[in-house]
Amino acid sequence: RLFPGVTVVPPGALRPGSGSHYRVFSPYWRAWSATARRPVLGAPHRLCLPPGVDPGVDPGVDPGVLPEASPEPYGVVRGGESEARRRLERWVGDGLASYGETRDRMAGRTSMLSAYLHFGCLSPSEVVDRACGRPGGEEYVRQLCWRDFHYQVVDAFPDMGRRDYRPRNVEWRRDEEAEAAWREGATGVPIVDAGMRQLRAEGWMHNRVRLVTGSYLTKRLGIDWRAGLEHFAEWLLDGDMPNNCGNWQWVAGTGNDTRPYRTLNPLRQAKRFDPEGEYVRRYVPELAALPGDLVHEPWKVRGGVPGYPSAPLGGELRA
Ligand SMILES: Cc1cc2nc3c(=O)[nH]c(=O)nc-3n(C[C@H](O)[C@H](O)[C@H](O)COP(=O)(O)OP(=O)(O)OC[C@H]3O[C@@H](n4cnc5c(N)ncnc54)[C@H](O)[C@@H]3O)c2cc1C
Repeated sequence: RLFPGVTVVPPGALRPGSGSHYRVFSPYWRAWSATARRPVLGAPHRLCLPPGVDPGVDPGVDPGVLPEASPEPYGVVRGGESEARRRLERWVGDGLASYGETRDRMAGRTSMLSAYLHFGCLSPSEVVDRACGRPGGEEYVRQLCWRDFHYQVVDAFPDMGRRDYRPRNVEWRRDEEAEAAWREGATGVPIVDAGMRQLRAEGWMHNRVRLVTGSYLTKRLGIDWRAGLEHFAEWLLDGDMPNNCGNWQWVAGTGNDTRPYRTLNPLRQAKRFDPEGEYVRRYVPELAALPGDLVHEPWKVRGGVPGYPSAPLGGELRA
């Protein structure tokens, strides 16, 4: 017997008046919020295998087949359900209430439950149940609804990882050198470099910085969103087909954004969401000693900063 559980509301369960799925988030959120949720059930006491199935021996993992690993995967955290539950409880106790005000702060931490949700260590219904009705709960649950939203889009448009959801006939550029600089965190735009280095170091990147690095790659450098998607899929611990594709296409303007031509100015974003430069200093040590705002505009330093690009890739930036 199969039971739903990957999402809170199964893909296809909600349909707009016309069409196979919701293309815009706000009406989906309204319908989703009004849907009765399944009760959250405890784990079964016993699991019985059908007769005649030999469970065999756990083959373990051959380290030779593992891809290159992040040096500090997810801040060296443990996987599994117990750890996931512990994090959820801690988050509900001391993070959730301020989520609405702090969620965009790049140097801050959000719940960091995405990888646990991705691997099924936590049920999204349980997370929604714990958050609902508490201070900060509505903003938080809205984000979890985005997760369901992307699943229902991909259910209706399974080619989401390959083809533009809303074709805009963009002529993407191929520029191996620029792509490599972006991947390695060597573009000369501090906030972008910090994000790309956080990704490799921790297998995670703050959502606001994912938006900035994605917008920079696609809209400023004009590079195909598929190149970004592939790199994120390789390094993110929460790397998830529907959420990765849905967000990349959103950022590139080929997806579900109702304002597909918007561009995020990385300098303005950095000054707004990392005003003290704490995030950049943490991941780009070459810039750590720069005073004040210079950390976001190292090209203003006379003679440049040793070891750091002297100008931003893609041209001058103004806030
Ligand atoms: C270019 C790009 C690629 C992304 N790729 C992925 C991905 O592969 N896997 C993934 O889970 N998320 C992805 N996201 C969404 C978001 O960045 C992460 O879910 C979030 O940063 C995870 O951290 P958190 O658990 O602390 O989130 P919180 O802010 O604590 O949010 C709680 C939960 O809500 C969900 N959520 C939050 N924001 C989004 C969103 N924009 N879209 C869908 N679900 C969301 C996640 O399940 C998250 O765990 C991507 C965003 C962008 C801009």
